[in-house]
Amino acid sequence: LLNCRVEKLIKDLTALGFENITTTYILSKEYVELILQEYNFALPSLSTSTNLDNVYDELKSPVNPKLLTKRPPVVTIMGHVDHGKTTIIDYLRKSSVVAQEHGGITQHIGAFQITTPKSGKRITFLDTPGHAAFLKMRERGANITDIIVLVVSVEDSVMPQTLEAIKHVKKSGNELIIAITKIDRIPQPKEREKKIEKVINDLISQDIAVEKIGGDVQVIPISAKTGENMDLLEESIVLLSDVMDIRAENSPKTIAEGWIIESQVKKQVGNVATILVKKGTLRKGKILICGNTFCKIKNLIDDKGTHIPEATPSFATEVFGWKDVPHVGDEIIQVKSEAIAKKFISKRQDLVEVQKNSSTVERLNEERALAKENHHNKDKDVDSESQDATQDNKLDAGPKNINFIIKCDVSGSAEAVSESISSLGNNEVRCNVISSSVGIPAESDLKMAQITDSTILCFNLGNLPSEVINNRAGIKIKQYNVIYKLIEDVTETLTENLKPIF
Ligand code: GDP
Repeated sequence: LLNCRVEKLIKDLTALGFENITTTYILSKEYVELILQEYNFALPSLSTSTNLDNVYDELKSPVNPKLLTKRPPVVTIMGHVDHGKTTIIDYLRKSSVVAQEHGGITQHIGAFQITTPKSGKRITFLDTPGHAAFLKMRERGANITDIIVLVVSVEDSVMPQTLEAIKHVKKSGNELIIAITKIDRIPQPKEREKKIEKVINDLISQDIAVEKIGGDVQVIPISAKTGENMDLLEESIVLLSDVMDIRAENSPKTIAEGWIIESQVKKQVGNVATILVKKGTLRKGKILICGNTFCKIKNLIDDKGTHIPEATPSFATEVFGWKDVPHVGDEIIQVKSEAIAKKFISKRQDLVEVQKNSSTVERLNEERALAKENHHNKDKDVDSESQDATQDNKLDAGPKNINFIIKCDVSGSAEAVSESISSLGNNEVRCNVISSSVGIPAESDLKMAQITDSTILCFNLGNLPSEVINNRAGIKIKQYNVIYKLIEDVTETLTENLKPIF
């Protein structure tokens, strides 16, 4: 698509700040967007989201301003690769664990919460920079973050991904705090001051209204290695969120809403999803609906692995009890009963069917129109009698679809696998992903594979039960632990389906 040799692309990506790029490196949508811009390509619409969630809109209640109460800010850390995002997150997480004398055990659930040592206020941090859920929600226009901490290394100053993050901040309207990192690397005070000044000036030339020029963007020089000024960074977040007066509705009557920021199947305990609460309170026994699945909350467990009785706005908690694994990035809404949950899910499924059918019809129509146009042009150019009849047939039929169903361990990899194989193929044969989801292939997957003549691709699922592998329907099930092996295999299958050239 870029019309560029892969060696050059890798060189360009390295210049952009990417590391250890190989030909099998899988890029996130955000990076693809960045690269397309670098090559001056218009951005195609990469969004796959639909308006299916409108089905649940009638379950939501309008915000009642009288019931709004203060909630902690939700913070995302962004910045150029290697500028220190992970180190900051690790520092904050560790210091919060030490403060609570918890024995140092934490689990990655997609977000964590700290209580600041000075003011005793709470802050929620999204845990993975460039988090899949965060990107997906952004595509939909949902903004789950209140504040972005932009990390800039004092040694390197503004770099390409810093610029990307600035672009995002401006577009999203999020509030911004700058953390100039790695100041311990320049111990000499004068030299350090000079370098910090340079970073600030570079930011000013990117139209960041820092305090130095009378703006309100705070700049905090820090070291996540030594901990210097980390308390200041925390307090600057608290200060900003106080000014922003961040609130959410949370009365006993408030219908709980939130976002799925992580989901997986856990051995022994089943389907688990991390929910970041938007409004209301999650409690054991409450019923939640999300996409095509629902949950009667069995347990809530926080990022320290502790069972908690409830989760209030801005809190992230693991929720146990899902019928199926919900998708990362989807919204959850509380419903009164399982019966209501089932009714709405079936309504949504009907809509999915309608959309699927209409998009298939649309696609077929497009393909037919294209084939006709091709045919027409050929007729104009060459004497029609000399046309090869098989060529005509091929044009009328369009590319042959080879169907796949993807099953993965976590939704992040389901998305990655789906995205990386969807684009495989050419005008003769192409890869068609029927569905991609989390968990061991269920009866419904086998049925779907049978109807659609699909191969089921399993990624990172460990040893599958023999009744699945040797299923009675004879569905082909392939297992992988390495993504490039999977891609190689799919490519080979597509190649096998190409018509032989004599
Ligand atoms: P990320 O790619 O933005 O998540 O960056 P990392 O947090 O992985 O940091 C990249 C490298 O810089 C690692 O080797 C860190 O140990 C180092 N680093 C990060 N922050 C600091 C800091 O404040 N001081 C020093 N001396 N090194 C740091």
